[in-house]
Formats: sequence, C-alpha cells, structure tokens
Amino acid sequence: MKKLCCLICLLLLTHRCFCWGFYMHEQINYHAVFLLPPQMMILFKPSIGFLTEHAVDPDKRRYMVASEGAHHYLDIDHYGKYPFPALPRDYKTAIQKFSADTLRVYGIVPWWIQIMMSRLTKAFREKDKQAILKNAAELGHYIADAHVPLHVCSNHNGQLTHQQGIHAFWESRVPELFAESDWDFFIGKAEYIPDPASYIWARVLESAAASDTVLRCEKEISLQFSADRKYAFEERKDKIVKQYSTAYAMAYEKSLNNMIERRMRQSIFSIASFWYTAWVNAGQPALDRLLNDTLTVSELKEFEMLNLEWKNGACKGRDCN
Ligand SMILES: [Zn+2]
Repeated sequence: MKKLCCLICLLLLTHRCFCWGFYMHEQINYHAVFLLPPQMMILFKPSIGFLTEHAVDPDKRRYMVASEGAHHYLDIDHYGKYPFPALPRDYKTAIQKFSADTLRVYGIVPWWIQIMMSRLTKAFREKDKQAILKNAAELGHYIADAHVPLHVCSNHNGQLTHQQGIHAFWESRVPELFAESDWDFFIGKAEYIPDPASYIWARVLESAAASDTVLRCEKEISLQFSADRKYAFEERKDKIVKQYSTAYAMAYEKSLNNMIERRMRQSIFSIASFWYTAWVNAGQPALDRLLNDTLTVSELKEFEMLNLEWKNGACKGRDCN
C-alpha cells in the first residue's frame, strides 16, 4: 500500500512548465498596462482581458509548431564566456558567422523580440486594433522570457547539475506563492527606449550573469533542508502534487536577495516601455479611432486551434520538465 501511494505521488509529480508559468505571464502583461500614458491606456485598459489571456499564446504555440520553441530562449553560454563577445548582437552578422540553423538550435529570443517589436510598430502605424493587441500580448511574453536567467543558460532546468525542476521552481512556484500577497508592482511609468536592440541585449546579459546565482543558491539551500522539509504535498485541481515547500521557496527567494521579484518588476517595466516605444515610433496614432475592431472568423479559428493543440498535444520543442 505504501509503495502504491509513493507511485501515485511520483506520477503526480510531473508538472509542465511554461516560461514564467501561465499565471505569471498573465500577471506581467496585466501590470504592464498600468505604466502606459493615458493616450495608450484608452485602448489597453479596456483590452486588459485580451492582453492577459493571450500573454500565453506563444507557449501554447509550442504545441502546434516545432520552430516556435527557439523564440523563447538563448543558450548564450554555448558561445563562450560572459559577456560573450563571440556572439554578434546583429542577427544578420550572427547568421553569417554561425548559420541560421545553429542559431535556432541555441535559441533566438533577443532577435525574435526585435521582429515582434517591428510587427507591433507596423500594427500601430496601420491603426489595426486586433494586430496591435495580438502583437503587444505576444511581445510581452517574449520580453518576459528574456528576463528569466534560466532562459539564457544551457543548464536551463538544472539537468547538468542534478537540479531538475529548478526552472519551474524559479519562475512558477516562487512567484505563485508570493507575488500577489507580498510583492510590489508600483513601478512608475513606461519610458521611451531609443535603441530597443541594445536594451534587450542588456537585459539578456543581466539574465545570463544571474544564472549562476540561480543555480548556486538552490544548491546551497538544498543542503540546509531535509527532503521532508524541502517538499510538500498539496492539492491542486483535485490532485495531490509534490511541490517545493513554502518554507523552501521562501528561503530560496531570500538567498537570491529577492531576485525573482526584481526580475518580474523589470519585465513589467520593459514590456510597457517596448509597447510605448512602438507607439511613439509609429507616430503616436490616436488609439480611440482604430480599424479592424473585431476578430475575424479566421483569427478566432486560429485561437481555437491553439487551445486545442495545447490541451491535447505534446510540446514540440524544448520542455523544461
Ligand atoms: Zn515562453
């Protein structure tokens, strides 16, 4: 009987991870809206439900399209040591040096953010409401991913250092425990970014520099906790799941000097500032009089397919389980 219970618990241990977790991506896009100027708030505030719900579409798309995975990460340590001078920051130069295929294997998040940024700017320029909201929601996702240290590190789930599970621990478990009750999301105002490419590379390098700390602190904390204090069994959606305990999560975030809260705040600021910059670069169009006010049948169908594949399919790219 005891063996059977253990087996059931082990089976329930597996839990999918989705880059900052679905809930946190939604929260990050949600909070970013409140940093915008009134001229943008006029569109973004009434659309906050859409921006929140569709913050996770890029992760759902990983269940539909194999090539989607590369947009979410960069194994920057593949290219040498910090600050990785061997890796050209310009995409075309990087392709010439390493080939497009190689770049995709090790991830392309900083470049993909720039592509999404130009799509959003174009949508603002064309005053296309649905395109603005769709691209803003998805750009928010990729920017948030670039702020996660383990998205910029080849040891992305601690698989090389016997720390499997650290990915979801850092970006889902800890924020889900503390973000709503303890963390501060009064962040100020969005700012214009004169050079979005340099800006996102600076955030990527911050993430890369922090990845060692993320792994080292978990190793150190784990030595201070016995297995029965490290984990807890909790009920989730009528299932008993094995989770890192609240005490362990608290000790970890403390040892990181509140890094997860700081990266989440930085993500929110960066997203709002990218949205604002795209709008300014598009000539600050009035957002109360826009075209394409409702979703078309094909757009609705696309969202439907995305949900269907995500619910029934398997992740086609890298998974962090
Ligand atoms: Zn992601």
